[in-house]
Amino acid sequence: MTDITTTTETAAAETPTDEVAAKRARKGTRADRQHELNQAAQGDDAAQGESLSDDEREQLAAHTAQLAANADEPAPVRATWKQHGNPTGGFVFFGTAVKSPADKGVKVGKIETDAQGITLKSANGRAIEGGAFGSATKFWAVVPADAPRKSDVPTSTPKAGGLAKLPAEKLTAPAGYVVKWPHGGYDLLKKTDKDAAGAAWLVRCNYHGTTKEVASAKEGDGLGSNAGRPSWCAKCKAHAEQLATAGAK
Ligand SMILES: [Zn+2]
Repeated sequence: MTDITTTTETAAAETPTDEVAAKRARKGTRADRQHELNQAAQGDDAAQGESLSDDEREQLAAHTAQLAANADEPAPVRATWKQHGNPTGGFVFFGTAVKSPADKGVKVGKIETDAQGITLKSANGRAIEGGAFGSATKFWAVVPADAPRKSDVPTSTPKAGGLAKLPAEKLTAPAGYVVKWPHGGYDLLKKTDKDAAGAAWLVRCNYHGTTKEVASAKEGDGLGSNAGRPSWCAKCKAHAEQLATAGAK
């Protein structure tokens, strides 16, 4: 690259009338310089003025297309973090300017999100200049398809419209009972100790740990269902009311 530049400038200096070529040689690309070198060798047709011959136009168009093809870096896109697909790192940040992306991108190693918004950090953990903004702020970035992304799936699997089942250690049987028929949202517990107090069966809400005495497994199945639990589990009732309110909005 350096060699070509030197050679080109020398060639341009030797043909001072070719101002256009000299100018291009100074600010042009490698292809430009090679192009101008060829022109210089051909006897400076272009030196006659700004106008280019058809041949030269063709060459110019060809190398412009080549330059575009060589640009394998995709262009930055301006969007919010969510619109970018919630990338958590592995992308290149080009600033938050409205009009155009920064000339040079900064590799983002990881991001931090909180109530205030997003903070971009480099791989060494340092905050990136201009990389802290609100979640609604649009920024320029090139996000590869394989960049890590924040999943929208919550850590606990929601059941019954947002309810999470209690952990197993909280779903033990009370004294005198065993978990006879486990289900998703409820369990049926059978009394095994005839001397223990209480009904022959218990139905238990597996989301809240509440129990209700029932006379039979069949009755327990009815009361343990999603539709049945709000009739005896106060927390399921409150939850069902919340869902109804949210659904009515
Ligand atoms: Zn419940």
